[in-house]
Amino acid sequence: MQNLWSDKDARAAVKHYAKQGANADVALRTYTTRLLGGEPRLVQHGGGNTSVKTTVTDRVGNKIDVLCVKGSGWDMATIEPAGLPAVRLEVLLQLAGLDTLADEDMVNIQRANLIDSAAPTPSVEALLHAFIPHKFIDHTHANAVLALCDRPGGLRLCRDVFGARAPVVPYVMPGFALAKNAKDVFEANPDCEGLILHKHGIFTFGRTAREAYDRMIALVSLAERQLRKAGAKRPAPARLPKDLASATEIAPILRGLAAAPLDRDEGRWTHVVLDHRSGRNILDYVNGRALARYSQQGPVTPDHVIRTKPRPLILPAPEHGRLDDFTAAARTAMDQYQAAYHAYFKRHTAQAHPKKKPLDPMPRVLLVPGVGLFGLGATAKDASIVADIAETCASVVLDVESGGRFESLDERDQFDMEYWSLEQAKLGKRVDKALQGQVAVITGAAGTIGAATAAAFKRQGAEVVLLDLDGDAARAAAKKLGGLGLPCDVTQKKSVAAAFDAVVAAYGGLDILVSNAGAAWTGRIGEVGDDILRKSFELNFFGAQNVAQAAVRIMRAQCNGGTLLFNVSKQAVNPGPNFGPYGLPKAAALALMRQYAVDYGADGITSNAVNADRIRSGLLTGDMVKLRSKARGVSERDYMAGNLLGREVRADDVADAFVSLALARKTTGAVLTVDGGNIAAAMR
Ligand code: ZN
Repeated sequence: MQNLWSDKDARAAVKHYAKQGANADVALRTYTTRLLGGEPRLVQHGGGNTSVKTTVTDRVGNKIDVLCVKGSGWDMATIEPAGLPAVRLEVLLQLAGLDTLADEDMVNIQRANLIDSAAPTPSVEALLHAFIPHKFIDHTHANAVLALCDRPGGLRLCRDVFGARAPVVPYVMPGFALAKNAKDVFEANPDCEGLILHKHGIFTFGRTAREAYDRMIALVSLAERQLRKAGAKRPAPARLPKDLASATEIAPILRGLAAAPLDRDEGRWTHVVLDHRSGRNILDYVNGRALARYSQQGPVTPDHVIRTKPRPLILPAPEHGRLDDFTAAARTAMDQYQAAYHAYFKRHTAQAHPKKKPLDPMPRVLLVPGVGLFGLGATAKDASIVADIAETCASVVLDVESGGRFESLDERDQFDMEYWSLEQAKLGKRVDKALQGQVAVITGAAGTIGAATAAAFKRQGAEVVLLDLDGDAARAAAKKLGGLGLPCDVTQKKSVAAAFDAVVAAYGGLDILVSNAGAAWTGRIGEVGDDILRKSFELNFFGAQNVAQAAVRIMRAQCNGGTLLFNVSKQAVNPGPNFGPYGLPKAAALALMRQYAVDYGADGITSNAVNADRIRSGLLTGDMVKLRSKARGVSERDYMAGNLLGREVRADDVADAFVSLALARKTTGAVLTVDGGNIAAAMR
């Protein structure tokens, strides 16, 4: 592993963080923490932690010895001095004299001794950092070290490889007991450079930030050399069907299976987002003949269990053209997984933890031979974290299996970790938003109404996909929202298919379609050319039909309903002079909305429309407003607010109407009018 220390960068960090009031110790601590955190083979997503022992001066001038240790919720790759809360060291050191310390007491004492009362809670491994006397301490879950530990005989192998440089601490759950054990092992080997935590990771330490970091890289490199010596045998592959179904074909099926019904009768589900991975390592891993053995052992380091659960779900390899068989087999596998999870919970709570409540039994990682793995999460970000960890797990297991057999923690230890309150606290108390886990696709999304609609769905927690004829504009608008932007010509079935495939590849499926793309053509109906009329029908009617058809196909594969929303114009209800070329296809789109309501109600798919009028947008530009208000002899404001309520209707009002229809699970075939009141356009 490459050592990335740079004197120049270190000096720059000291200068940079001095401006924020951080001393050189904390600045260098921040610098090397980022070096470690930026290397996924060392740490991932909240795994690992670092510390420095230094002094701070309080408000009245007292100098206090403190431990600045990584705070919960900070990512090492992007940490700032604020992510290294300072705790009074003296109090922490006194705790070493206790025989036992309850988790709640440990957290309370740490929090009560923070220098900044608003600082994040110190890492669950803070006491270990306190008990080792070195100034700088680094802790990672390095893949190479795990690959040496996580096997029968791993303890002995680590002793042979690391010798006196890094003695081995036998496995014990993180927290007070581990901190005490590590202290004992260190005191018996006071000259060591680090400690190997069996089946967990590695600590290194030193007088300077550089020394601790150098030692981390050196010891991990030692482990890597040992692994290379053992060779790189790939697991023997299982026999797979010749013609496999693709990830985009099966993702909606899996996404539907993984959605937990909150209330099936009410049409409410807990939706999840899927993150698919299929790199070389992952395919070797999922295609292995011994997958059922090595994938069901448990995590490669205890911390992973809160994200991935102890075991992934193995699904059958999907055969092309036989998706019904795959769906049935996947459903059975899912049911068995959940039953096994309940049994696991029961096994470990019968006596020891009678008060624990079971966590949800859904798997977080799905393994599909021939196709790859899927990470599941309540958001796209969660799903990608799970997939990253699953990828790490696959690569460690492959390293072990190239010369040995993967062995995880005992199941009992896995359970203790999964149900440890301090670990669950890492996930935080999430406030579920109304559309969390749902994927909303909006067409014509670079325009005023489309962009406002995407933003409104994002605010409700949905993942948003912005489709637009102008792909660059779609990407730019999506970037602002943290969504996905794609080019899509809704009049072209091929373009629609490509865009919807990309949606499925990114999130696993979709739940909400807002068909919003449209454009206005004019002409007196008795004289207008067919070409104009057909062009308008292509976009304003067939465009809606093309995307609705693509959406319904995916929704039906998910088997948990869905939402179709159409932007129809006032013209569909209340035709204006010379607006036939626009109004006729919009009237057809209104009928289309009703037809979808009729044909797919039984699938739980709602189909509704919003009828909006007089909104500043690409269809009603500032220049048009000027001309029209002038022609009527009213001010622009009065023109825009020329409705029963006397209020201008804005894109955000239309967006809110789409959201409210998506939330209404018992409304279908309806039109919601958003025009400030225009009795001539009232539905009748
Ligand atoms: Zn750890």
